[in-house]
Amino acid sequence: MSFGIFDIASRAKAHAKTEAARARATVAKSAAEGAQSSVAALEKRVDKLALISMALWSLLSEKCAVSEEDLAERMKQLDAMDGSTDGKLKGQGAPCPQCGRAMSTRHAKCLFCGAERTEITPFDDVV
Ligand SMILES: [Zn+2]
Repeated sequence: MSFGIFDIASRAKAHAKTEAARARATVAKSAAEGAQSSVAALEKRVDKLALISMALWSLLSEKCAVSEEDLAERMKQLDAMDGSTDGKLKGQGAPCPQCGRAMSTRHAKCLFCGAERTEITPFDDVV
């Protein structure tokens, strides 16, 4: 059995395709691992937020005369604070003391000028 020049070229092409597929699989695996890590971080944040919410509600309902209707109304008010009643908070904190732009509650410094954020709350890493 002999191999002609076309057989060798065909095998080389098939080998190159296989290597390219392996490279794409490696990239896809890395992206999937990154996504899993992001989901785990989000789950951690959601768990912390749920714990904070439950603790606050427990204290309020136990120590104050606050009804679930009051809670629902306050949720609507807070939802509307970012300009949209979509059931989400946008994570905008107080304005930057240096440049006046809205500061993200997820960062310790202003993304525009680098000024340190001075207003710290328990919700900073969850909202
Ligand atoms: Zn700033």
